[in-house]
Amino acid sequence: MDDCIFCKIIAGELPSNKVYEDDQVLAFKDIHPMAPVHVLVIPKEHIKDMNALTKDNAGIVSHIFTVIPKIAEAQGIGGSGYRVACNCGPDSWGAVDHLHFHLLGGQKLSQTMG
Ligand code: 5GP
Ligand code: ZN
Repeated sequence: MDDCIFCKIIAGELPSNKVYEDDQVLAFKDIHPMAPVHVLVIPKEHIKDMNALTKDNAGIVSHIFTVIPKIAEAQGIGGSGYRVACNCGPDSWGAVDHLHFHLLGGQKLSQTMG
């Protein structure tokens, strides 16, 4: 996608602080961290959001969820714990239209989720 900021990061056209990469997934530090560890985990394929997942492209989600514990461990929060969040649509305040999972940890996180 030409105008997608995360596709530009994947293509190397914009810089990022990369923490993990494989053939399907890129993970990098959020530019405005909301916790001591705040990593964004994204598919390299442009998928707009959770509503755009189908039987054909949803396999990436299970892959991402096997990668996240490895990233958490590498970031030193595998044992202390973490939260994974994915925004979808206006009420969630989601801002970037490229599917991404927030990995948050490194402190006692807020008890409120909604
Ligand atoms: P959303 O609100 O869409 O769920 O999350 C988008 C996230 O992307 C935000 O936490 C925001 O700080 C982060 N973000 C936006 N632009 C950039 C960027 O250019 N680089 C990085 N590393 N993070 C970004
Ligand atoms: Zn994209």
